[in-house]
Amino acid sequence: MTSNYRLRLPGPTTVPERIRLATAAPMQAHRGAEFKAMLAEVQEGLRAVYGTAQDVYLFAGSGTAMMEASLANVLAPGDAVLVAIAGQFGERFAAIAAALGAEVDTVDGDWGQGIDARELAGRIARRDYRAVVVVHNESSTGVTEDLAAIGAALRERPTLLLVDSVSGLAGTEMKMDVWGADIVVSASQKCLMCPPGLGFAAVSAKAWELVKREGTVPRFFYDFRRARAALEKGETAFTPPVSLVYGLREALRMIAEEGLVNVVARHRRLSSALREGCGKLGLEPYNRPAVASSTVVALKVPRGLEGTKIVAHLRSRYGTVIAGSRSPRLHNKVIRIGTMGAVSEADIQTDLAHLEATLKDLIT
Ligand code: PLP
Repeated sequence: MTSNYRLRLPGPTTVPERIRLATAAPMQAHRGAEFKAMLAEVQEGLRAVYGTAQDVYLFAGSGTAMMEASLANVLAPGDAVLVAIAGQFGERFAAIAAALGAEVDTVDGDWGQGIDARELAGRIARRDYRAVVVVHNESSTGVTEDLAAIGAALRERPTLLLVDSVSGLAGTEMKMDVWGADIVVSASQKCLMCPPGLGFAAVSAKAWELVKREGTVPRFFYDFRRARAALEKGETAFTPPVSLVYGLREALRMIAEEGLVNVVARHRRLSSALREGCGKLGLEPYNRPAVASSTVVALKVPRGLEGTKIVAHLRSRYGTVIAGSRSPRLHNKVIRIGTMGAVSEADIQTDLAHLEATLKDLIT
């Protein structure tokens, strides 16, 4: 890619050279001793970023595949689920649950505000749900949900907590076991700094009671029972994207070298710096400050401007690639910048310089 291409999306994110080179290593046997050793190392690294003692299963697939897998492994036809919706990915999770034949109830939060954990707790008390389904970090609105509070509301109940942390994991705090999340899914192309194509799922002991039974909606490739049986032998069930696993191992080493706590703090610091700088340019955050994400900065498009034009101008004039909104509800009203993965102070300064220049160009 030419040097005037700055990838500043909320995923896929920049793949650091160390990881790119790692993915170029020679192919090896996916059931050989070397791959088994790599899988064991990757397990250890993923457990740390997940905050879990459980295994983390690797699949070929994107984040959406893993959202579907989380539901398909626990739902029986006609089960009721409660989906928390405060953005586009919450809507997607509800659509997947409906496609799999679940009875879908929703708890709707203000977009930009997030889900009210108390309202959610009230809803859980009124109906027996197989699962409550939550997007940890809603990339469409730049909001992080309070998973600790949501997990606490479910603790004494049989209902499972299914979590999409596609854009949160490894960039924002995740304490799967402490918070009582039952299935947490993610993907390689966001905070984990890898190319797209690898998906992850960690499964609690409580969820396993449901995963292991017969009679769920159809599943085969993404059947967690197969993944677990394979992992017990140090393998994946089917041929994995081996080169991406090389990359993931390198990414997890980089996170361990920086220190997970420092990585999370860097995401928080840089997202705050970007939001603050944007405020000075007249670009206000779309979301409430208390719930602002560390990994995605979502900004309101100022009156008189269009999001698509800002995105196009930043790309064509300054080489900076950010996102608009893919949700019809936010189209042209919101622009989004990733502050996830391999992001530095210098990136934020350049973002701000390019945004300032773009606003000047478009307004004058
Ligand atoms: N969930 C969230 C929060 C996301 O940000 C995304 C992608 O942007 C997805 C799910 C879907 O992931 P994928 O595009 O890898 O299917």
